[in-house]
Amino acid sequence: MDMTNYPSQAVIREVGLRDGLQSIQTILSTEKKMAWVRRAYEAGQKEIEVGSFVPPKLLPQLADTAEVLAFAKTLPGLFASVLIPNLKGAERALEGNADLMILPLSASHEHSLANLRKTPDDVVDEMRRIRAARDSSGKKTLIEGGVGTAFGCTIQGHVDPNEVLRLMQALLDAGADRVSLADTVGYADPLSVSRLFEKALKLAGDKFWCGHFHDTRGLALANVFASLQLGVSRFDASLAGIGGCPHAPGASGNASSEDLAFMLQAMGVDCGIDLNQLLALRQSVTQWLSGEATHGALWKSGLPKTMR
Ligand code: ZN
Repeated sequence: MDMTNYPSQAVIREVGLRDGLQSIQTILSTEKKMAWVRRAYEAGQKEIEVGSFVPPKLLPQLADTAEVLAFAKTLPGLFASVLIPNLKGAERALEGNADLMILPLSASHEHSLANLRKTPDDVVDEMRRIRAARDSSGKKTLIEGGVGTAFGCTIQGHVDPNEVLRLMQALLDAGADRVSLADTVGYADPLSVSRLFEKALKLAGDKFWCGHFHDTRGLALANVFASLQLGVSRFDASLAGIGGCPHAPGASGNASSEDLAFMLQAMGVDCGIDLNQLLALRQSVTQWLSGEATHGALWKSGLPKTMR
């Protein structure tokens, strides 16, 4: 096995407060979200996606994103990101001094029209406007273009990998500082991840930022491993694996943060996380979200004797 590019450190970007909470019914109070952010930070999570600047009537779960972002900005060294659907969202992210804002683009044309009411190339045009707004604001907020449904979608089915790469290049040309790939509905397998990520890394180089895998069919961690072997060292994950996708029936959440942290640490990849603290936080969050589906394996058995 070629381990040349194998990273010694990796970052787990917590997306439970956005990708997780946006797709479940329960609305967490702002106080609980702040407690989640603070305790995740104390457990060693240094990158957190705190919410999404979408209209509150579309996603009432995330209506307090500006407040949660303001709180996250009080924690020294925490890198706080937010999702933005468009220029309007970007303006709010800039106003709140987010460290990074993610503009999602769906490589599936049909998913893009259903989800965003825009074609993927309309989103590329929006990236251009967002970049101009960021540059003229003088803010340091980085812009990430997240290419979703990169391995297929529940509406359109097959998504051409060449189209995924074309759109990734278009986002970079339009001014994205970073790009990432997302398996929004859990269609990827380790081999398809190796093939697509290898090409994406060649194309984007240092600007390739993150892998985002949903565990819908149980392969999220295997897909993380496949991209880790290519040198990718940042992964989105959701505490207790909460989440899904409103347009993907039966979709489950992201890789669960605690299981991913366990896998990385067992492999000797430092992700800076205190697993016991993260498991304690998981327990609180699953209590706050009682009645909602949660996922993950580590919490059932705890740490092995060799890692306690
Ligand atoms: Zn997702």
